[in-house]
Amino acid sequence: MAPGKTASKTASAVAPEDDKNPVRPVARPLAMVLFGSPGSGKGTQAKYLMDWLHIPQISTGDMLREHIRSGDSIGKAIQERMRAGSLVSDELVNQLVFERIGQPDARRGFILDGYPRTPAQAEEMMRLLSAAGAGEVVIHLVVDYNVIIARMSGRRVCPKCGTLYNSVSRPPRVEGICDLDGATLVVRDDDREEVVRERLAQYERQTRPLIEFFRATSDRLIEVDASRDRPEVVFERIKSELKDLVQG
Ligand code: ADP
Repeated sequence: MAPGKTASKTASAVAPEDDKNPVRPVARPLAMVLFGSPGSGKGTQAKYLMDWLHIPQISTGDMLREHIRSGDSIGKAIQERMRAGSLVSDELVNQLVFERIGQPDARRGFILDGYPRTPAQAEEMMRLLSAAGAGEVVIHLVVDYNVIIARMSGRRVCPKCGTLYNSVSRPPRVEGICDLDGATLVVRDDDREEVVRERLAQYERQTRPLIEFFRATSDRLIEVDASRDRPEVVFERIKSELKDLVQG
């Protein structure tokens, strides 16, 4: 499907009983699928979409990190793979997503961030969405490979307060120092160069090919250039592609 092309089975969301919800009150829950390489800005766009549409962000990366933080059996089982930049098993992420989209706050729709990442996940997602009666919109954030490398290698985090910086897009006032508490910034474990390379290799091998699957099967696929402009500008582009989903 050509960029921005709208197929006939356009997805839309159910929101009849909530006046504050801006999504058009029509028959089906809306699944927004954010698709793109690590470092393409999926998490940032997911937050904007969440504020705009009042539907929750479902980030498999966040859910998995939460298990690691809590130290439960799932966390223990996955921490080595996550640390190495490898994907965790399809069975596990499929199960986590299945449980999460069954929660009451996801009944009108949800934003999938970081899922699906493999053919088995994509097929399972289609099954889950069809069982939920949801229609999906896939948003492909298209970013040049070299831009991704530059972005990810410039990422720093404050070990004290967790604030994220980026030497390109969000530099601290003083290089290497947190604006908020003066701590020396560090490179996050999974932003180390060899891990970044592994994450990008995984993406190229297992995830990028899914775009062909979406072209063939999805209700609607939009492709948005996310290489050069600030995140707010990229979001405006997404919004203008999705105007017909939202009232007013
Ligand atoms: P990024 O998109 O920057 O790689 P994420 O937070 O989405 O970051 O993912 C971090 C890590 O979590 C991945 O490298 C992988 O180990 C694991 N992960 C997240 N989502 C999935 C998924 N859908 N399938 C398998 N592993 C996943």
